[in-house]
Amino acid sequence: MIYLDHNSTTPIAPSVAKVIAECYAAGFMNPASQHQPGQRARKKLESCRCNIAQMLGAETTGMRTDSLVFTSGGTESDNLGVIGLALSNLAANPSVSKRIVLSAVEHPAVVQAGEYLKTLGFVVDVIPVDSNGVILLKELESLLKTPAAAVSVMLANNETGVLQPVTQAAAICRERNVPIHTDAVQAVGKIPVDFGALGVDALTFTGHKLHGPRGIGGLLVRHGVTIQPLLFGGFQQMGTRPGTEDIALVAGLEQTLRLFTDSPSTRFKHLLHMHDRMLAHLRKGIPNIVVNGGEAEKLPQTLNVSVPGVDRQAFLMAADMNGIAISTGSACASGSSEPSPVLLAMGASEDTVLGAIRISVGMTTTEAEIDLAAEQFVQIFRGLSGSA
Ligand code: PLP
Repeated sequence: MIYLDHNSTTPIAPSVAKVIAECYAAGFMNPASQHQPGQRARKKLESCRCNIAQMLGAETTGMRTDSLVFTSGGTESDNLGVIGLALSNLAANPSVSKRIVLSAVEHPAVVQAGEYLKTLGFVVDVIPVDSNGVILLKELESLLKTPAAAVSVMLANNETGVLQPVTQAAAICRERNVPIHTDAVQAVGKIPVDFGALGVDALTFTGHKLHGPRGIGGLLVRHGVTIQPLLFGGFQQMGTRPGTEDIALVAGLEQTLRLFTDSPSTRFKHLLHMHDRMLAHLRKGIPNIVVNGGEAEKLPQTLNVSVPGVDRQAFLMAADMNGIAISTGSACASGSSEPSPVLLAMGASEDTVLGAIRISVGMTTTEAEIDLAAEQFVQIFRGLSGSA
């Protein structure tokens, strides 16, 4: 099988699997316990927390220390970021309107958090995007003429890889005293992500998109910002996210991020090289191919193309039968025939939406795999479009 669906999930890096196995073998106990095994676990947990926060550009020393809340992954962090920010801001400032603002291209984990807030009486306003899927900052400014309870703008899109001007969006929010969350799930581990420099109040990431463990992620929270919890129970993580932490997964997450921070440019270059090689092959074999979001600044590993006149589901199935794993867009939507809300928001034509497939490479992808997969894709295209 040639695996080209790394935006969905990635194979775990051997050194990460080793760290996790070693941690389980070391028998770390509950970090909330007062006895010595508990204290040992707590020490390990807090050292990993500090290192991870540091690698993501958070402030870990001094009077303005940011916090890192471990969660089960991107979905939970997005829910906690959006709902938690909105509810705590509303509780602290009753004059704030019951309204949140989201970009038009957010992952379902953010969109559905908005849907939940609607059930509590919130209004959800949407920042439109241009034809490349980049938010219109002027629209954000006008949506914030009346202050909202929270804003969420993702750092990089999971379907197209397109980057958003989050730093500028955060500056607009800061001027108006509106807290902003960003979903950096696809960006972390692909491009340098600096929480401090972005200027956001909360940032979501997850382990499994960058050759790390599934089932763990985090929410970075700026110093002084409060997040209303969504889970209730013990005192773990200052009550923001109660529940016993898994030291092995936390240590695995630390090792995952270390792999990226040790050689960011080597990793970036590898991903971009694989992406560019695939695109060059496809352009040669399918001259009328459309690159969705192609004019915008993008992540290195994501290629979203539309093969005009070909149905994306038929393409995906044919690729799968030929031993190549790709996707039609968001992982949560694979298998469904719903048109991509991201491409619709970009104003893509029906033909473009119908034929959109996502090819996402990873650190284990090789040139030989790209060449073989591209050859198959061209054959599939010719077969499905009747141009064989
Ligand atoms: N946000 C984005 C942009 C994603 O791509 C994903 C996963 O596809 C998520 C959130 C959800 O992350 P997780 O699978 O860790 O819950």
